[in-house]
Amino acid sequence: MSRSRHSLPLHLDRDARVQPSSMSNPAAGPQSKRHCLSDWLSLHELDQATCRDLLDLAEHDLPSPPAPASADTGAQRFEVEQAWKRTLEAFQAFFPARREIVDDTFANTTRILVDRPDGSRKALTLDVAPYPAIHYSFHGRAADCLIIAHEFGHALQIRASRRSFTPPIVREICAFLGEHALLSHARQQGPPEHAMLLQPFDEDSRKYYGKATRLRKALPRLDAPYDYSWNYPIARVLAARIMESCSPEWIWTVFKGETSVPDILQELRLEPK
Ligand SMILES: [Zn+2]
Repeated sequence: MSRSRHSLPLHLDRDARVQPSSMSNPAAGPQSKRHCLSDWLSLHELDQATCRDLLDLAEHDLPSPPAPASADTGAQRFEVEQAWKRTLEAFQAFFPARREIVDDTFANTTRILVDRPDGSRKALTLDVAPYPAIHYSFHGRAADCLIIAHEFGHALQIRASRRSFTPPIVREICAFLGEHALLSHARQQGPPEHAMLLQPFDEDSRKYYGKATRLRKALPRLDAPYDYSWNYPIARVLAARIMESCSPEWIWTVFKGETSVPDILQELRLEPK
């Protein structure tokens, strides 16, 4: 796949070396307000009509709310080391031919456990040399295991791309693919394991796709101030489709930063009409 080059000297994050994550919006700092919708579209080689189509797809994929009887499936408590081990196993299974870089990234990424008594799931992966640093919190829930897989997806993407600038939608696709890798691994362990993770995953999808309204509202105005949350619904829906139909070798080109958003749309046969 050809590498996408953009002419804008833009780093749309507050700091391009910071890979913001989770449900918060840490990148919506003052600097990010300098950029606007047209910058974000150019950076990703997207247009407004394609974004609308992708948001329609996200709405179409919106998981239905859980049945009340299944509301306690996330109650099992996990140990933090167990959660990391599962993430490692999930990525080893997801990229069997990339075991060396997966193991190396896992062994050397700095993990900084932040105490958040309020149960917040805020997490952040920092691109610092020579290995990334993941700041996260952990409360023993299945949802916390998904956050670890998400952040490790960011860390692996940083290493696979050799720290080259990668547009935020592509970065978030890699992080969401990490969550899918964990789900897929859990499916191998058995239905109860999978159901336990699927519930918070679907809940997160509803939140991420809920954020689509912010992008939808911004789309008619090319000068709308940039909002990091725009990246999530597009990345979430594309990651789900990639997971359904793409090979690990092709997915690795996304982690390496060699695949642009138009390349991804083409691979998924979602090209602009
Ligand atoms: Zn993220």
